[in-house]
Amino acid sequence: MRIKNLSILGATGSIGASTLQLVRLQPEHYHVFALSGHQQVEALAKLCLEFSPNYAVVSDPVSAKRLSTLLQERHCATEVLAGSQALIDIATDPLVDCVMAAIVGAAGLAPTYAALKAGKCVLLANKEALVMAGDLMMQAVKDAKATLLPVDSEHNAIFQCLPVNFLAPRLFPALNLAHHAADFGVTKIILTASGGAFRDLALDQFATISPEAACQHPNWQMGKKITVDSATMMNKALEVIEAHYLFGLAAAEIEVLIHPQSIVHSLVVYTDGSLLAQLGEPDMRIPIANAMAWPKRMASGVNTLDLVQAGALSFKTIDPERYPAFSLGYDALRLGGTAPCILNAANESAVAAFLSNRISFNAIAKVAREALNTLPIQAARDFDTIIGTDNQTRAYVEQYLNTL
Ligand code: NDP
Ligand code: MG
Repeated sequence: MRIKNLSILGATGSIGASTLQLVRLQPEHYHVFALSGHQQVEALAKLCLEFSPNYAVVSDPVSAKRLSTLLQERHCATEVLAGSQALIDIATDPLVDCVMAAIVGAAGLAPTYAALKAGKCVLLANKEALVMAGDLMMQAVKDAKATLLPVDSEHNAIFQCLPVNFLAPRLFPALNLAHHAADFGVTKIILTASGGAFRDLALDQFATISPEAACQHPNWQMGKKITVDSATMMNKALEVIEAHYLFGLAAAEIEVLIHPQSIVHSLVVYTDGSLLAQLGEPDMRIPIANAMAWPKRMASGVNTLDLVQAGALSFKTIDPERYPAFSLGYDALRLGGTAPCILNAANESAVAAFLSNRISFNAIAKVAREALNTLPIQAARDFDTIIGTDNQTRAYVEQYLNTL
């Protein structure tokens, strides 16, 4: 196999770290072409010294200066770049084969979209990008014959359980495999949800949940934003939208069940009564390895699940009183157009406000609902419409927060 040039957007984060662990296992197959970080300049410098990428990107000139100094002191030849155009450049460079899209939130949209338009193989962790601009991103895959491989554990599980001919036209059209949807017998998919940090907390305690408590996940080690999203179940709302775009399924064909053990990562239900599931330890190195090596497989360094040790697996439906954010994903799909973009931006703003102790945990879902119900929804025509909606929503939420 030819060595693949990999750009990792969001290298200093949790997904970035897991991706680099896999690169360490297969240095003969992957060259780290570029790494990006945002605030953790020292951590990025350390990664540059280890992986010697051609480029390292940070968000602003001050961080770039600091990173350059740290690298020059250690005679590291990595070229340091700054700003949003630099992120696009490392995602679209002709030498790049694969892009790991692991920036959190809307900041990841522009480089991820650009990578797809450039026909790259994109390993997608940054679900917010797809939620914001799903139609545009899927159109870009088609037009540029790009490859889009889901890293989110549930979507990677579904990806593994669907026939390759079902997936090809949407996710890797260059393969040119025939698609006759009705022939595949897919009735629905079931995404599993751990239930997050407060799945057993008494409902009368929710008003006083602290940011520290919301940043502790019972099963997964992840960045702060997605950990809070798991606690509110907004993460699953976003994942319903993500599944809709990735697999071309209607809202009614996407179900969610709580599965506290996080062993069954999701399932596909077929018309003959078969359920295909992907099981494994809750460790993101498994779906990342699946996407990195696809269509082959690679060792991930994660122990194979011991079914006897895993014990009983349980499933239950979602209590809307505990998780008022969850149904907003379906609402946004029903409303269509820019509604998912509004939901995402409102949630990002609300989570940031919660993490800085400005609003309560319960207010997150309230803010997102308010934005979705109030702001005008347009057709998601082009990139500027998406960015305009994102900005408008953030400005609206900022004002609304002052009334709470
Ligand atoms: P982290 O918070 O751990 O990492 C986020 C990364 O994005 C960091 O490298 C951070 O840089 C960078 N970043 C943050 N803000 C900006 C910005 N404004 N501009 C450029 N870069 C920025 O998040 P995770 O790794 O947990 O999640 C990444 C994505 O993957 C999210 O979209 C999440 O939903 C998704 N995902 C994550 C899973 C997980 O297990 N962690 C599972 C499934 C999906 P720095 O740290 O240097 O500031
Ligand atoms: Mg997930």
